[in-house]
Amino acid sequence: MFAHGELNTRLAHTLRFNRFLTIAIIINLFIYSIQDSGNQSMVCHILLSLSWIILGLYIILNEILLWVTSKPDLSSQHSCENLSEFNTILTTVMIVSLTIFTGNSDYIFLSLIPLIQCISYGKTKLSLKIFIGCAVIIFFANVFGWFEKEFLISNQNVILTKTLSFLTVMGVLTYLVKIFNSVIEFAGNKADVLHNMATTDALTGLINRREFNRRIAEEFSRAKRHNSQLSLALFDIDFFKKINDTYGHHAGDVILKELGSLISNKTRTSDVACRYGGEEFVLILPETSQVEAYELLDRLREIVAEEIFNKSAKPIKATISVGVAQLDLSDKTPVDFCERADKALYRAKEGGRNRVERASLGLPKIELVYRKKVS
Ligand code: GH3
Ligand code: MG
Ligand code: MG
Repeated sequence: MFAHGELNTRLAHTLRFNRFLTIAIIINLFIYSIQDSGNQSMVCHILLSLSWIILGLYIILNEILLWVTSKPDLSSQHSCENLSEFNTILTTVMIVSLTIFTGNSDYIFLSLIPLIQCISYGKTKLSLKIFIGCAVIIFFANVFGWFEKEFLISNQNVILTKTLSFLTVMGVLTYLVKIFNSVIEFAGNKADVLHNMATTDALTGLINRREFNRRIAEEFSRAKRHNSQLSLALFDIDFFKKINDTYGHHAGDVILKELGSLISNKTRTSDVACRYGGEEFVLILPETSQVEAYELLDRLREIVAEEIFNKSAKPIKATISVGVAQLDLSDKTPVDFCERADKALYRAKEGGRNRVERASLGLPKIELVYRKKVS
């Protein structure tokens, strides 16, 4: 349900919140311990000692879990999921034990904290078990009159109950706010990740064909509206099949990746670089004439031809053929514009590769109107 980093962060966040919970409980147990300590029965002393022991163990385990989540080699996705479940069960057990040992039924409301934690992690089944488990324990404790036993803490101390109720409400509300914050943050991050995945080519990091279609439509209508210059360069790696066959598909992928970085580095931020298809790339060049586009692409072609790809393994040389076109009156749609660049690329291939070809100007279609001869 969560990405690993997200789960890890949320678990650490929960474990840190547990410190707040334990401080609240320590204050309550401490208030009780120093009040009327001489009048307490033997059973009450034993139960109170047990409460302190359980709380101590809980604090130690919580700190150990926190330490584990800070170690990337220990906190894998799977272990984080198990640890969050373990923490929820541990917190519930601690709260239920304190409720029974102190006889203070208000404590049981603290189980809202692991319950909310559980729901926020999407563990609906476990949260249902916690809810039913706590309800059953409270029900039977009431049926057997456990909370009315005179040796229990709650019957002797009203301040304790009130302080606890206050801290409980405060704690739960604080936690709820924190959870909602992290859920909103998480949803925002997820939307960003999904947007990147939908618009970016995973291998080269450039925008993908789908995003290109959106951007070219945008730039096309902007250039038409403002009557500004717009150029398009379509290029293709020469004899890429041969490179794949000679050096392997992985080496081919490395070339695509390195070429992607090269294109990003050698173009302006306002230019839009895209992986158009297999070993084809396209550059949208706003505010650029065909002459400027030709110069830019010819320079890029030279840089590519001089570059040594796949340096860390087997060095490989590669070249590109390019077709450039400038938007003109004949381009009624972005498709017309792309087609002219594509034709120029075809001519670059035909002309011997490792070269840049300009698209011929598309002339506006002349509508011929024949008038009937009036005799
Ligand atoms: P030309 O100079 O005419 O462009 O020849 P070419 O061999 O580059 O063109 P062709 O279209 O015959 O081959 C393109 C090759 O690109 C075939 C395909 O296996 C390879 N290719 C496409 N996408 C990828 C990819 O993502 N990774 C790798 N390694 N190869 C790819
Ligand atoms: Mg090719
Ligand atoms: Mg091709």
